[in-house]
Amino acid sequence: MQNDLQSCPYCGNSGLHVQGGNDHVHFICCPSCGGRGPNMPISTEPSMLPHLQSDSLMHTVINEAPDIILLKDWNGRFLLCNSALARLYGSTPEQMVGKSDADFNPDQDQVRFYQENIQAVMRSGVVQIIEETSTDVATGEPRYFQSIKKPLKRPDGSDCILVIAHDVTELKHAYALLEQKEKRYDYAMEAAGEGIWDWDILNDRVLHNYKWCELLGLDDALTEHPMSALGVLIHPQDRNGMMATVQQALDGDGTYAHEHRMLRTSGEVVWVYDRGRVVEYDEAVQPRRMVGSISDITARKMAERRLEEASQQVTQANEQLEKLVAERTAELAKANRELQILARRDALTGVGNRLQLEEWLFGLSRDRSAVVIMLDIDHFKRINDRYGHKMGDRVLKTVAQCLTEHVRRDDLVARMGGEEFLLVLTGVDMNQALAVVEKLRAHIETLDMLPEADQHITASFGVATLSDNDFDHAMARADEALYEAKHRGRNRVVASPLG
Ligand code: GH3
Ligand code: MG
Ligand code: MG
Repeated sequence: MQNDLQSCPYCGNSGLHVQGGNDHVHFICCPSCGGRGPNMPISTEPSMLPHLQSDSLMHTVINEAPDIILLKDWNGRFLLCNSALARLYGSTPEQMVGKSDADFNPDQDQVRFYQENIQAVMRSGVVQIIEETSTDVATGEPRYFQSIKKPLKRPDGSDCILVIAHDVTELKHAYALLEQKEKRYDYAMEAAGEGIWDWDILNDRVLHNYKWCELLGLDDALTEHPMSALGVLIHPQDRNGMMATVQQALDGDGTYAHEHRMLRTSGEVVWVYDRGRVVEYDEAVQPRRMVGSISDITARKMAERRLEEASQQVTQANEQLEKLVAERTAELAKANRELQILARRDALTGVGNRLQLEEWLFGLSRDRSAVVIMLDIDHFKRINDRYGHKMGDRVLKTVAQCLTEHVRRDDLVARMGGEEFLLVLTGVDMNQALAVVEKLRAHIETLDMLPEADQHITASFGVATLSDNDFDHAMARADEALYEAKHRGRNRVVASPLG
């Protein structure tokens, strides 16, 4: 049943409900703010005053009622009042009869209002519900009442009024607090530097602050919309991931944080950091409300992308550099190997030099027998003089090649300077060495290099065995033997007399 004769005195809502109605007593209830209080049937004819005082049960009920109940005559004098009013005025119901508000309430404005109001109601002859204020005499605090005022006729025909006042102070305070909180919430929504959203899950409504709309280039009219409308604002590639994250939060601990792209109305992409938390659950522990915020992280994302690209470029450059370094290192190693070889080779003839001789001797096993041979081309100066230096060089090269061809791989051939060569044959004794050297000597003699047919290249050889690994001593003996070969007429092999 709808009571459309009055509006709620607390919040002004006109859709009041009447509960438990019968002919005499109703109870009003405001669905908006929860305000409650007794209602009275509307009558244009003033009722007759019932004999309340004579009914002791009714008297007890009136006296013990939590609401203030009083009867006043035209002049505002109490004909009856209950303990609730007496407590407010610091008196007793008995002492108050015959007195008026002015005797107890120090607030003259309130007293005047009561007086004028009851006379107006009595004059109108109609029940009225008004909101009024009184003062607690003990504390001096104002108390708020929702009062039903019903004009009555006394048996002698004079006017009186029944007032039932319901103390709504706590309700009013609660309502004021709520209003204050809502104002604060509204302010927080608007003042926040971030986009704020508030999702009423049951009613599928998402509420946003202005900043949220601004971030996405939407006009203010879209501060509220169903959740489904949000889908089109999320970048298609991020939509499913985002929705799955939200669903996970609803099914799980109620919180999430997600980075995704959203689309502005201009088509421009905005990267956002979106956080949400369920703030209300229903009795079945199902999420009812979720709130959160989004912030624009486009600049950070762009910077990250640039950093990533730069890092990729650096990685690529590093890889190329490493490849180049590896190639250069290989080339250098190769060049170094070649240099190592060249450093140990005689530049003209390609056989070993003194450096190779030293290394070769260092690696020579002590146990291995070896024979040292010194070779010197005979009358080489004449060849130079007669046929020129170039011919001399060719002779040196040919003799060196001949030496290399007549020894084994493990043996050593080295040019000791000018037209002198050294041979070290390993794994042979003096006789075996002499046989090899004699072959060599004969072979050199047959080299047909000089333009004049009767002219031949010859060489002299001094041979000595290497004993006790004393190479210098062996060399000295081979040298002596060579000297002896020269002395005996050249083109011959002489073994050291010391072996
Ligand atoms: P002997 O039979 O006593 O050894 O007489 P020889 O002429 O061979 O000896 P000598 O020491 O008098 O002369 C050696 C010559 O070798 C002198 C030098 O000009 C020449 N010679 C040294 N090194 C080279 C070279 O690399 N190329 C050429 N073409 N000649 C060289
Ligand atoms: Mg010489
Ligand atoms: Mg010579």
